[in-house]
Amino acid sequence: MAVIDVHAHWEPRMLDVPAMLAKMDAKRIDKVALIPAMNDPLPDETPEALLKVLRFAMRSCHPLAQALNVAFMTDEGNLRLKGRVFEIYARPDNAAVARVLAEHPDRFLGWIFLNPRAAIGIDELERWRHRPGFVGVKLHPHWHGWKVEEAIPIATRCEELGLPILIHLGFARKGEWRVLADACPRLTMIFAHAGMPHFDRMWGAIRDYPHLYLDVSSPYLDEALARDAVRAVGAERTLYGTDAPYGFHDDEGHTYDYGAIRGWVERLPLAAREIDAVLGGNVERLIGEGGGKR
Ligand SMILES: [Zn+2]
Repeated sequence: MAVIDVHAHWEPRMLDVPAMLAKMDAKRIDKVALIPAMNDPLPDETPEALLKVLRFAMRSCHPLAQALNVAFMTDEGNLRLKGRVFEIYARPDNAAVARVLAEHPDRFLGWIFLNPRAAIGIDELERWRHRPGFVGVKLHPHWHGWKVEEAIPIATRCEELGLPILIHLGFARKGEWRVLADACPRLTMIFAHAGMPHFDRMWGAIRDYPHLYLDVSSPYLDEALARDAVRAVGAERTLYGTDAPYGFHDDEGHTYDYGAIRGWVERLPLAAREIDAVLGGNVERLIGEGGGKR
């Protein structure tokens, strides 16, 4: 059974290929699906105390969570953390991930990052989708600042091609996932970070749509939240992901700990076969479906 991290960021300024491969080998991760860098490398980890507040706000009180989030964004749509501004890239560099896929086809997969607001859409998808290793499309309406409906043309093309979309939802119209799910009922969509910032408010509805999934990546979640998500949507709709290189620094220093979220999954109160599905079996099936149609 393969272990596949479905959500990691290609950020060689924090974690380069040799370092990633060493960590993957140490923790028996077979493959990592890389997302092209969309922002300047972020500073140290977000303090756990702040993450706790954010988690609580997102799960219980949408307006508070939204207000907290606004405090982290500049008027230009960049991130403001600890008094410094970190650029969000409107046009993430898909070519950089393509080079990694070409060099290490057995260890890395890739997401093609599109942004309808910056007019990188279907042309960019057509440019990369035949490259071996690219498995689907990444969308980030939250940080790229667009309404979900703007992605309908991209979603329609992905549905035709059988390519999954990994999407990080935002608030209000940047988070209206049903717009895509209803427009494209055969589209496979994976909601990053267990559907953040909607979490519990969307989990029940996911069961009504047969092609929707959650990943359990990121320090935005914690083990209890991940367990609740899996209980709500089922192991067959949950995918292992990390959000590397962000969060989960190991005890020895500042390097990324590839075992942290894997531990959450392995400790889920599930049968071994279900844990295997979360760790890799589910995503292998999704990628297989897409690959078959291309
Ligand atoms: Zn991420």
